[in-house]
Amino acid sequence: MGAIIDGKAIAARVREQVAEDVKELGHVGLATILVGDDPASDIYIRRKHEAATEVGIEADDLRLPAETSEEELLDVVASLNADDDVDGILVQLPLPSQIHEPRVIQAVSPVKDVDGFHPVNAGLLYLGTPGHVPATPLGIMELLAASSIAVAGSRAVVIGRSAIVGKPAAHLLLRANATVTICHSRTVELGRHTLDADILVAAVGVPALVSPDMVGSGATVIDVGMNRTDAGLVGDVDPGVLDVAGHMTPVPGGVGPMTIALLLRNAVRAARFRRGLLAYPGG
Ligand code: NAP
Repeated sequence: MGAIIDGKAIAARVREQVAEDVKELGHVGLATILVGDDPASDIYIRRKHEAATEVGIEADDLRLPAETSEEELLDVVASLNADDDVDGILVQLPLPSQIHEPRVIQAVSPVKDVDGFHPVNAGLLYLGTPGHVPATPLGIMELLAASSIAVAGSRAVVIGRSAIVGKPAAHLLLRANATVTICHSRTVELGRHTLDADILVAAVGVPALVSPDMVGSGATVIDVGMNRTDAGLVGDVDPGVLDVAGHMTPVPGGVGPMTIALLLRNAVRAARFRRGLLAYPGG
């Protein structure tokens, strides 16, 4: 029986450290933009604001109507880029269909891009000199570190190749000297790859895709999946995997709480970049 990695407790420690860092910096400003009234996005934004306020970050919650044009949104982004009190900018996705998301993502100043979605930040991660990195993959690395899981020299398998989780997670693992395999929907015989993993990251969006027979004895399993089912919120990993794994994250209470904590840390990082306390890129 493996050990459960307590993401809630680890995230709480990250938030405590962020609160100390914010106190030391004096002011950290975060602006979020929500276009429209999607209920799920509204909940996400409210959670981010509660968490930001709790650690002393001054968070500005900008709300724009659903019919906002791309030009109008780009104007708002430009004014936040120019606002010296704003260290971090977060545009909540998805955006309404009249707005081209990549254009908006690219309009955010890379140094203020706390989501790490700007192509400059994606490219910096690819080159191994990170600027801002998306919060969920950062959270995965933090969970591994907090659980004293050796990454260097390990065989890491990431299922999923999205720009916000799978690919950046693979790059962070590679940067930490794991030997990384990336699997996806066209991977043939997924289990052949996953069985070989010392560290298995599932970021797919398919409930219980990873079954116990796909996991090697003693492996560390990080379940990023957040799937709403009739039975409630479930991950991509069958809970029975805990019988074979050495360590495993639960859903909920694993990766989920880490994402917001690491987003807050990214806001501190943005403030440090902007004050010249940390080199951008590569700090
Ligand atoms: P996504 O953009 O839909 O990407 C899913 C990836 O899984 C794709 O690369 C896809 O392959 C691959 N895939 C789909 N079916 C597969 C299968 N049967 N076998 C192997 N690979 C398969 O999703 P995402 O944004 O990365 O999110 C993944 C999951 O993590 C979702 O459940 C999401 O809700 C959750 N999530 C959680 C957090 C958190 O804070 N805990 C944050 C973000 C996301 P192709 O590329 O070939 O299509």
